[in-house]
Amino acid sequence: GRSFRPEGTIVRFPNGVTVGGNEVAVMAGPCSVESREQIFAAAHFVKAGGAKFLRGGAFKPRSSPYSFQGMGLAGLELLREVGDATGLLIISEVMEISQIELMMPYVDVFQVGARNMQNFNLLREIGQVRKPVLLKRGIAATIEELLLSAEYILSGGNYDVMLCERGIRTFETYTRNTMDISAIPVVKKLSHLPILGDPSHGVGLRDKVPAMARATVAAGGDGLLMEVHPNPDKALSDGAQSLFPEQFAKLMDELRVIASAV
Ligand code: PEP
Ligand code: MN
Repeated sequence: GRSFRPEGTIVRFPNGVTVGGNEVAVMAGPCSVESREQIFAAAHFVKAGGAKFLRGGAFKPRSSPYSFQGMGLAGLELLREVGDATGLLIISEVMEISQIELMMPYVDVFQVGARNMQNFNLLREIGQVRKPVLLKRGIAATIEELLLSAEYILSGGNYDVMLCERGIRTFETYTRNTMDISAIPVVKKLSHLPILGDPSHGVGLRDKVPAMARATVAAGGDGLLMEVHPNPDKALSDGAQSLFPEQFAKLMDELRVIASAV
């Protein structure tokens, strides 16, 4: 609850970057790590835009078992290499308990995906490590359930938890999910944890992503998780919701104006 830390939790990284507090943290990159060229190209324009974190999935939770499942360990090695080369912090999804130890040396933030928000055994184990976590809201989870899932991590002693609204399933079909912007002020009031928005999964269509990213920041969100790709039309996952490099650069300029106004 908010009363635990009325001033709000600030997650601090060894390089001085923080999430929570006054700054808007941007975590951007492709849905999946696909190759050395792809992740280095993505990292360069992500950094040029001013983001501090590079995202990229190595283990992918795909709806179909026949879709690309991620590069696994080879993807983690590429992420660490590009993180060290650029100074960007690395965030990548952990899908099961056995991957926690494997991923420890390669990532700066563990992402727990929407499908695992109520994998309580995984959450308990994540509570035992001392590395920041981004916990995404489940596809059909209430905000109360999101906060209770966060408790599984906090109660293990890992207090570096960031929450993420990534859209929920509703009856609406024009968008992939319905981005619940209201979750941001609701979580802000109830919880001391930082709350980020993921407009990419939130709407699933790149032409609507910038508007929802701007809305997240205007609503007081602590940051954004966004999918970008050097060549979205060739992406192996989530290309339709991934921003082109030029779109990302323009959006980052717009976000700076909004962040300074709120
Ligand atoms: C992702 O970030 O690529 C992802 C799979 O997100 P979610 O768990 O929100 O679907
Ligand atoms: Mn994705």
